[in-house]
Amino acid sequence: MPFGNTHNKFKMNYSAEEEFPDLSQHNNHMAKALTLDIYKRLRDKETPSGFTLDDIIQTGVDNPGHPFIMTVGCVAGDEESYEVFKDLLDPVIEDRHGGYKATDKHRTDLNPANLKGGDDLDPNYVISSRVRTGRSIKGYTLPPHCSRGERRAIEKLSIQALDSLSGDLKGKYYPLKGMSDAEQQQLIDDHFLFDKPVSPLLLASGMARDWPDARGIWHNDNKTFLVWVNEEDHLRVISMQKGGNMKEVFTRFCVGLQQIEEIFKKAGHGFMWNEHLGYILTCPSNLGTGLRGGVHVKIPHLCKHEKFAEIVKRLRLQTRGTGGVDTGAVGGVYDISNADRLGSSEVEQVQLVVDGVKLIIEMEKRLEQGKSIDDLIPAQK
Ligand code: ADP
Ligand code: MG
Repeated sequence: MPFGNTHNKFKMNYSAEEEFPDLSQHNNHMAKALTLDIYKRLRDKETPSGFTLDDIIQTGVDNPGHPFIMTVGCVAGDEESYEVFKDLLDPVIEDRHGGYKATDKHRTDLNPANLKGGDDLDPNYVISSRVRTGRSIKGYTLPPHCSRGERRAIEKLSIQALDSLSGDLKGKYYPLKGMSDAEQQQLIDDHFLFDKPVSPLLLASGMARDWPDARGIWHNDNKTFLVWVNEEDHLRVISMQKGGNMKEVFTRFCVGLQQIEEIFKKAGHGFMWNEHLGYILTCPSNLGTGLRGGVHVKIPHLCKHEKFAEIVKRLRLQTRGTGGVDTGAVGGVYDISNADRLGSSEVEQVQLVVDGVKLIIEMEKRLEQGKSIDDLIPAQK
C-alpha cells in the first residue's frame, strides 16, 4: 500500500496509453469519469504546489470499490486542484452530488434559528447526536500533499486559535504523540477521536504520511465541542452530545464554527471557500457544507424491513456503522446522516436529518407493535 505521492517526471517518457491505470474492475466515481482522453490532457499538468493527476487518482486506483458505499476514488492536494484538474473533477462532482453542474452556485446558512424543531428526537431510540464539518486553511496544501513542516505549522496555528475560545467552548489540545495507546483507544471507543489510519482509502491517498506527527484533538471540558487537527482535513469541527437534541448540537456547532472562522481570519488565515464549491475540502464528497449531521439510532426492526435501504435513500440520508465510515451496523444501531453536502445549505441538510430521523423512529415504533408501515413510506425527497 503506497503511503506517498506518485509524482514522478520520468513517467512522461511513457505514453499516456502505457501509463493509464487499469480500471476494469473499478466501481468508484473517479473510475467512471476518467477516460484515456482526459488522462492524456491532464497528466502533465500540476498545481503551483506540484500536485498531479496521478496523485489525485491514486486512492481510487488502489481501492476499486467499497462494501457499503460508492466511494469517490480521488482527492485534492491543494485548493488549486479543483481548478487545474476540473476536466476530471467536475464530472466526479456532478456524479457524486446528484447532477451539480460546473456553473451551479452553492449556498451557506449557519443560522441555527432557521432549523425547525429538532430538539425532541426520542432519546429511547437516539443514543447520540452529532454535526461535523471540515475546514481547510488557505495558503497551505491539503493532507494528501502537505509536508511535515506545513502540517506542523497548521497544528501550531490551530492550537493558538482554538486556545482563545472561551465560555462553554473553552478547551485544550491533546496531541496524538502525547497520548498513551490506552488513552487514544478510549477516545476512539467513545466516538470522540478519529480512527487510527487503518482504512486503505485514507492510506492510499497519502494523507496518513508521517502519522502521528502533528495530529491531535482539541476539545472542551465536557467533550461536546471537538476539533480534529490534520486528519483527513486540516480541521474537522464537531459538536456532539448524548440523546436526541439535534437543535442544541447544531446551535453549538454554528456558534463555535463561526467563532473559529473569525479567529483564523484575524490571524490572517481565512478558510478555503468559493461560491461554486462552497468550502473546499480534501475529498470531493465533502465539498459544499462539508457537513455530516447524524444520529446513532436503535432501529432493530426497521433495519430488517425489505424497504429500509429505499426509505433511507428517499429521505436523502445515508447509513454507516457506529464505529465510523468503514464499519457495519451492530445490534440494529445505525449512524444515520445527510447524504448531500453540495447545493443546499447547512440548515437544509440538518433539517432533512431531523425530519427523516423522526419518521424513521415512528416507523420503528409501528414495527415494534407488529403493525404495517406502508402508509408511512415517503416519496423521494
Ligand atoms: P466522520 O468522518 O464523518 O466524522 P466517521 O464515520 O469517520 O465520521 O466516524 C468518526 C467517529 O465519529 C466514529 O467514532 C463514529 O462512531 C463517531 N460518530 C459519528 N456519528 C456519531 C453520532 N451521531 N454519535 C456519536 N458518535 C458518532
Ligand atoms: Mg471520517
